[in-house]
Order: sequence, then structure tokens, then C-alpha cells
Amino acid sequence: MNNVRVRFAPSPTGPLHIGGVRTALYNYLFARKHKGTMILRIEDTDQSRYVPGAEEYIMESLEWSGIHIDEGVREGGPHAPYRQSERKEIYHQYALELIEKGHAYYAFDTPEDLENLRKQAESGHKPFVYNFETRLHLKNSLSYSKNETENSISSGQPYVIRFKTPEHSEVVMQDIVRGTVVVKTETLDDKVLFKSDGLPTYHLANIVDDHLMGISHVIRGEEWLPSLPLHVLLYEAFGWQPPVFAHLPLLLKPDGNGKLSKRDGDRLGFPVFPLRWVDPVSNEVSSGYRESGYFPEAFINMLAFLGWNPGTEQELFSIDELTEAFSLERVNKSGAKFDPDKTKWFNHQYLLKKSAEEISHLFHAILKQKGINTSEDYVFRVVNLVRDRVNFVHEIWNECYFFFEAPESFDEQVVQKRWKPETAGQIREIVSILDEIDPFEPSAIDMAIKEWIIQKGYNTGAVMNAIRLLLVGTSKGPHLSDIMHLVGRKETTARLQKGITILG
Ligand code: GLU
Repeated sequence: MNNVRVRFAPSPTGPLHIGGVRTALYNYLFARKHKGTMILRIEDTDQSRYVPGAEEYIMESLEWSGIHIDEGVREGGPHAPYRQSERKEIYHQYALELIEKGHAYYAFDTPEDLENLRKQAESGHKPFVYNFETRLHLKNSLSYSKNETENSISSGQPYVIRFKTPEHSEVVMQDIVRGTVVVKTETLDDKVLFKSDGLPTYHLANIVDDHLMGISHVIRGEEWLPSLPLHVLLYEAFGWQPPVFAHLPLLLKPDGNGKLSKRDGDRLGFPVFPLRWVDPVSNEVSSGYRESGYFPEAFINMLAFLGWNPGTEQELFSIDELTEAFSLERVNKSGAKFDPDKTKWFNHQYLLKKSAEEISHLFHAILKQKGINTSEDYVFRVVNLVRDRVNFVHEIWNECYFFFEAPESFDEQVVQKRWKPETAGQIREIVSILDEIDPFEPSAIDMAIKEWIIQKGYNTGAVMNAIRLLLVGTSKGPHLSDIMHLVGRKETTARLQKGITILG
């Protein structure tokens, strides 16, 4: 494929939803696969919905996810500026061009006029639609004489520019994901292209920029499918070659009932945003994948599978492998159910895939934050014992805190179950046995304990669990001899003796 140019075109109206990141990802994979160009265009023409910080958030999210932009607000490029609010002058002339060609018209109806028309229609139980049926009876350049129109404009009367949807015809659209889609123009209204505030609406700015920026493929969410007929008609009206379209399936709630919304995340206990976001007005905090401890590679791998599959059993893909395997033809039509458990599973897989050095380095930083100073080597050995039990680096602490500090209390339930009248005596015996073991290493420790249990005829489970209780504080943790070896003979003995004192 020649000269593939795709764009991700978010509006900075709040934090970027993971559905948006998926759209960006598919665009990026497609661009890379075809040695094309990935563009980031900020669509900020709706000033009333502008949210401060959202644009920076979008860029930071893409950067964290490993989605690189070739042309954009920060990167610049041959079609700069890439922020629509800086391209204002461009759009008006295109709206005027459509009027000249007879594909658009001035409309002078005030918001009150439209509100009244809506109310009237409602009383007759019909919605009000500004279209071929009504437009000739409304205040616009189609119903006005040329003079009336010119006078209205020159007297400063506010106006919008509407698209003149052709009557009684069909719009035939091709979509890579959905195939051929046909819509009758009677079902469409005459959308506003240019607003009375001097700014274009999304539709006009989007089409004009896609054309000017040489976009070859428009890959975006299914929520934009209803706009496609208008977009295709606009391309026709301008006499421009339309790009290829691909509308991506919706991301659904885990139970499949409806769209995954911004509210679902923290309600159901998983993030729906790539990064943490603090609402600048309400100060409401939404959690992010980054801050929740996800690796960007896992996040991206998980997202890639929400709406696409490679057609094989393979589930773990690096970004290079995704690029290689990705195709729009393999994007599904039906909505993709978000699966929080699978999302954690991906992180777990990446945690196992990463080098032990990297994971222990990350965990060491957490220990330092907790004020625990210990050697890199010790952390490395501990982490290696427990890392396959966790999904996140921060969860490692819960699996291994007893390597860094003695238990402060003992789990009541385990005490009930494991601490019997004879236990204290047995622990005293093991303390003196541990004293003799040389070298104090896992296999030697194992052997000595085993011999002692056999010789005394003790119940292995009962004895081992009691020892574990005193070393760990509860009934979890890796192999006992590994714990003893790593914390060392002195600390092991101290914990056992302290346990006897406390539990008697
Ligand atoms: N600005 C639109 C959005 O916020 C862009 C839709 C499109 O890609 O055409 O998603």
C-alpha cells in the first residue's frame, strides 16, 4: 500500500478513554505496518467542551503507551498547525465554497426559533428535523431572496451554515470492518457545518483537514458511523476522493451490557483511563493503568485484543509482533467485552517475561519508599522466590514482607489451628537443631528438619505450619527453608524464640 497516512484526532474534552487509546493503537499499527505516517490532530473547535490539561494528558498517554507520533502538535510537520483552533481561517472558505456550489446554505434561525419549532413538533408527537421537508419554510438562504440573505448578513444577523442534504437519494458507503453500508438521505438532517461563533463544527473541520492532510485511511470508533453518510456526502460535494474508512467496534462493559463508560471503571474496580486523571473542576480522581502498576506493553497487548485477533492461539505480542500481525480485515464487527481479569493476566505474563533484574529493581524502589534499606542482591533473591505469585510489582510486598521485617502479630485463625500444647516444646527443639546446621543453606536445612521429624515421629504438616506461623505471621509464603536461609540463622532463631514467648 502506498503512502498510508492515518490520524488520531481526539477532542480535548477530558481524559482519554482506553477506547481512544485503542483507536490510536490501531492507527499506529496500521501506519507502521505499511511504512506510513501517524498523525495526531487535536480537534478543539468546540470551545464549550474544552477541558484544560486534556491535550497534555492525551499526549502523555500516547507516549506512555509507546504510540509514537510522526506529525502533530509537538512534532510539527508539513501540514502544521495540527491543532484545529489554530486553523480557524481555513474552514470558512470551504464552507463558502460549498454554498457557492449549492451544497450548503446560510441559516438565520435563532436558538429560540429552533426551540419553538421543536416544541411545536413535539406537541404533534413528531421530532423536529431541519431537512429537505422543512428547510424551505425556515429562515435561510434557500427560502430568502438573494437580497434578503445579503441584507441579513450585512446587518450582522448571526447565522450558521448548514449542509444541503440531497433529497431522495442513497449514500453508499464502504467500510473495511462493516462492508457496504447504505443510508437513504431522507433519514438525514441538514447538519450545521459552520457555527455562529465563527468556528466550524466537527464535521466540516474533520473532512477539510483529512483532505488537506492527505489522510488515506480513517480508522475510528463506531460511535462515528452515524456521521459517515454526511462525511461521504461532503467529499462528494467538494469533489474530493474520500479516504478508506474503518469503524472499530465498541468496547463493552464486562457483562456485555452497553458501552464501557467512564463511570464503570472505578465502580467495578478497574481503570478506564491510561493515566490517573484529576478533574480540574470537581477534583474527582479517576484511576489510571500506569498508576495501578500496569506495564505499558501489557496494556497495549490487552487493548490490541479488544476488537482484533490474529487468528492464531498466540496471545502475547510485542508491539513489533502486533505491527507484523495486524490487519484491519481481522477487526471484528461486534463489540468487544472488556475483561478485567484478562487484563491482569496480561500484566502477570509481562511480569514473568521481564528479567529478574528489572523486576527486582522496580521492587527495590518500592522498598526504599517504605524506608527499607537492603542490598540489591537480597531483593533480587527474594523477588525471584515470589514473583510468579503476583500480577503487579507492588503486590510483591504482600508476598514477601517477612523477608524484610519480623511479623508483628500472628494470624488468630492460624494460631487456633496450629498452636497446640506441645508446639512450644517442638519449636525449642528445632531452634537447637538449626544451630547445628552448616552450611545454613536450603538443602541442608530441609534435610535436618526432615530427619528430626522422622526421628521424633512428628506430624510434618503440624510442625512445619507452626514454624511458618512464627516466621511469617500466617500460613503463606515460599518454601520454609528458603525463608530461613534468606533471613538467616540469627533472625530465624530470634523469630522462633519470640514466638514461643508470645504464644507460650
Ligand atoms: N474529534 C473526534 C473524536 O473526538 C474525531 C473522530 C474522528 O476520528 O473522525 O473522536
